Amino acid sequence: KNVLITGGSGFIGKYLTAMLLEKGYSVSILSREKKENTTTVSYYTWDVTNQKIEEAAVLQADYIIHLAGENIADQRWTLKRKATIRASREESIALLYSVLKKNGKKLDGFVSASGIGIYGAYNGEGICTEETAAASDFLGVTCQQWEAAVAPIANLGIRTVKIRTGLVLGKNEGFLKKMLPVFKYGLGAALGSGQQYMPWIHIHDLCAMYIAAIENPAMQGAYNAVVADNTTNTIFSKKLAHVLGFALWLPNVPAFILHLMLGEMAVIVLTGRRVSSDKIRNLGFHFEFKDLEEALEDCLSK
Ligand code: NDP
Repeated sequence: KNVLITGGSGFIGKYLTAMLLEKGYSVSILSREKKENTTTVSYYTWDVTNQKIEEAAVLQADYIIHLAGENIADQRWTLKRKATIRASREESIALLYSVLKKNGKKLDGFVSASGIGIYGAYNGEGICTEETAAASDFLGVTCQQWEAAVAPIANLGIRTVKIRTGLVLGKNEGFLKKMLPVFKYGLGAALGSGQQYMPWIHIHDLCAMYIAAIENPAMQGAYNAVVADNTTNTIFSKKLAHVLGFALWLPNVPAFILHLMLGEMAVIVLTGRRVSSDKIRNLGFHFEFKDLEEALEDCLSK
């Protein structure tokens, strides 16, 4: 079976491609850039802004895993950037939908990334489940609209799944890539109050969840992708320092400095909700990395 991954050349897509190939799937990738096909992966191109796409990418796919979208955390959230973040997710799904509809193409499943940001940039003790209402702040509305863009595909009779992803831990990628240079020199510190929750997931488990989502016809709708161990920012920072071989000694970085550095985007590191993963666990999904220290050790190993 062929799995088409949009945004497949990014952090999650690269790991997912390797895992799918290992499991015997054929993989194709939809990218903004023309790339040479390899012996194992075929590449197709699209231009979401101008609603152009090599339709063959969609027509030859049995499943689509939609990861494409402008990176949420690599530039300050100006009004223009916010619009680009949203448009890259919604318009890309709309483009895929138009090809599916025009050609009467059926898929065995359409799985889209989403984020636990849907529950809002607040701090609190309440545990968010997939039933919790979406928040009205920037990330809340962005995730809500991103997920809503999937609805027309479901209306074509295609099974759709949304993976509400927490902070993904991987080898020298994503959040760890940003934190490691500071922590490696012993200059790591907790951020803000340090009490904010940081629901995390190891990249291996996240990709296993994506594969479960295509393989298990019972999966439908939204699933939280987090370990749900109630790690706070202080716990995370202490464990990261410990795995790197030293104790955390600097005072917490004050919230106002993070606001100065990151602007409104500071909410990503200064706020966090407790998020449940009961729904996916109840389907029998097994997390290989449940212990934060083990997950960090794995990510930092050669
Ligand atoms: P990356 O930024 O590493 O990869 C995303 C890919 O999307 C890029 O490689 C790019 O592929 C494609 N892309 C970017 N901008 C556009 C655009 N304007 N139009 C079309 N394609 C575009 O992200 P991750 O792999 O980390 O994340 C994948 C998805 O999961 C994202 O939607 C992200 O928001 C979500 N997620 C990730 C989390 C994390 O901690 N990593 C947490 C929560 C959600 P190309 O250059 O080939 O076109």
